[in-house]
Amino acid sequence: MKITAFVFLFLSIILTAGYWHLDSVTYYQGEKTDHFDGGTFFNPYDKVKNRFSKFLKWCLNRNPAPWPEHIEVESHDVPPPAFDGGIRASYVGHATVLLQVNGINILTDPMWSNRAGPFGIGPKRVIDPGVKFEDLPKIDLVLISHNHYDHMDRDTIKKLVARDNPKFITPLGNDAIIKSFASNANVEVLDWFKSIEFDSLVINVMPALHWSSRFMLDRNKALWSSFVVETSAGNIYFAGDSGYGSGAVYEAIRDKFVDIKLALIPVGTYEPRDLMMMVHNNPDDAMRAFRAINAEYGLAIHHGVFQLSDESIEQQHSDFTKALEESDISPQNFKMLKVGEPWIIE
Ligand SMILES: [Zn+2]
Ligand SMILES: [Zn+2]
Repeated sequence: MKITAFVFLFLSIILTAGYWHLDSVTYYQGEKTDHFDGGTFFNPYDKVKNRFSKFLKWCLNRNPAPWPEHIEVESHDVPPPAFDGGIRASYVGHATVLLQVNGINILTDPMWSNRAGPFGIGPKRVIDPGVKFEDLPKIDLVLISHNHYDHMDRDTIKKLVARDNPKFITPLGNDAIIKSFASNANVEVLDWFKSIEFDSLVINVMPALHWSSRFMLDRNKALWSSFVVETSAGNIYFAGDSGYGSGAVYEAIRDKFVDIKLALIPVGTYEPRDLMMMVHNNPDDAMRAFRAINAEYGLAIHHGVFQLSDESIEQQHSDFTKALEESDISPQNFKMLKVGEPWIIE
């Protein structure tokens, strides 16, 4: 076994060893629902199988496409203090987007650290965040979709709490994790299909087809979600991490929200396909998701920053371009922005 394969296997087992099904962590206690069995959350729309033997085989034999060591940000965005002329979306990188709408500043899954993992280990960032932390306007609201390290970053959350004390909204169970490293964080947890008002916005926690794990023993002990933010400029959908599956999870969004003005949809982390397909969209799935939720505009996220799977950055770009060409969606409506590139939707 190559040393790199061994290190990857070791880290993977540490980070995802909930596959071992050793239960000893409780983040949330409550009544059983159609996605909670009293101890563990699960996907009611499509079954996500435990595929540990395949995962192990992949770790031992994987041959990922090379990624560059470092890419320079072409142009950092310096956002205004606030924006009220529609929606201003700035692609900070990976699942982090700065949304400015109704004069309110929102961050999705904020991640400014160099590694997506604990103890300074885990996949390394290849491109700096598109907005420098010190250039961020005062953040009012933070949406955290789930507890994977590339989405719930301890150091970034601590910095945001210390600087701006924003409101965090996250699905069930994740408050316990956030409070464990940021005890004074202002965190609100909601179940799927629940909503909360925030200033002039309504935030809805909605389903996603995914899973959760932070370390050994906590697989699916905290919930994962997407979000719909109702604004005066239209509804904004943030998918978090999600596969497409049968499409039922996206139909559930459509059943509640007829129109989505802007959808942040993940398009990366999809090879090897048979291992990833139930929990990560590929670009074709992203097009289907865009159509399923009846989005007017789409922004591709979860690509080009951390290598979490086997496809190259170039393949992410070319597969996205091909999927878009083969769809009936205009390139003006579904964009893959550069890191640091803002987009104003009026
Ligand atoms: Zn994830
Ligand atoms: Zn992710």
